[in-house]
Amino acid sequence: MWCFVVVNDDAMRTEWRIGRLLPAIVCVLAQVGAWGQGSGTRPAATQQREVPVLCYHQVRDWTAEDAKSDRVYITPIATFIAQMQLLHDSGYTTILPDALVAHLAHGAPLPARPVLITFDDATRSQYLYALPELERWGFRAAFFVMTVSMGHERFMTREQVTALARKGHAIGCHTWDHHNVTRYTATDWARQVEGPRRELEKLAGRPVQYFAYPNGLWDTAAVDRLRQYGFGAAFQLWGRMDQRAPLYTIRRVLVSGYWSREEFVEALHRAER
Ligand SMILES: [Zn+2]
Repeated sequence: MWCFVVVNDDAMRTEWRIGRLLPAIVCVLAQVGAWGQGSGTRPAATQQREVPVLCYHQVRDWTAEDAKSDRVYITPIATFIAQMQLLHDSGYTTILPDALVAHLAHGAPLPARPVLITFDDATRSQYLYALPELERWGFRAAFFVMTVSMGHERFMTREQVTALARKGHAIGCHTWDHHNVTRYTATDWARQVEGPRRELEKLAGRPVQYFAYPNGLWDTAAVDRLRQYGFGAAFQLWGRMDQRAPLYTIRRVLVSGYWSREEFVEALHRAER
């Protein structure tokens, strides 16, 4: 009945910037039996698969100014190149959130070794250094965009976000300025989610169906609000999956910039168990 496996503990959830707690080996967890909320139906358990969902932030070489704790979120270019090659050589096929959600909700089939690659914040390094490696192998990914910083130094331009969508990548919402969704007022929801989603839909030229919680933090009120808005799923980082709302608490493997090849492989394998 279990789609995914949890590896680390809830202590990891406390704060995104607490680098000493990381790297966390984190996996998505979803219990099939909780899927059919409202309908009372269950997809066929035999069709459910464990899918690693990877989360990257910056892809660039470290500089002397990068704090040790921040390097967790900065994957050196050569490391990223090696990780993408490893995925390719190991027979992985990238999928997009549409396919993962269809699989989780309805048991839709997936390729032999599926992996979902995601990027948070829309840093320009993702476009400059990660995108060519994705394209080298024909990979597709989901980019969760924080809209306030678009066009600023170190972040993607609006044109680059549009280009990603045209290349077949998924564009998701990551709020306006990365504030914690558990503290939003109604005004905040309009500013942080409604407006940014509309802007991203214009840039992408299609509906924006998926959301990534800033710092991975969420609560049931936020889940309810995202459901009301019609988001199909939401992604966190290392928190425990909520069995009442599995599609809105999908866990991801936060790929640490420090990881060796062996640690990356181990994290993938843990996510598939
Ligand atoms: Zn973020």
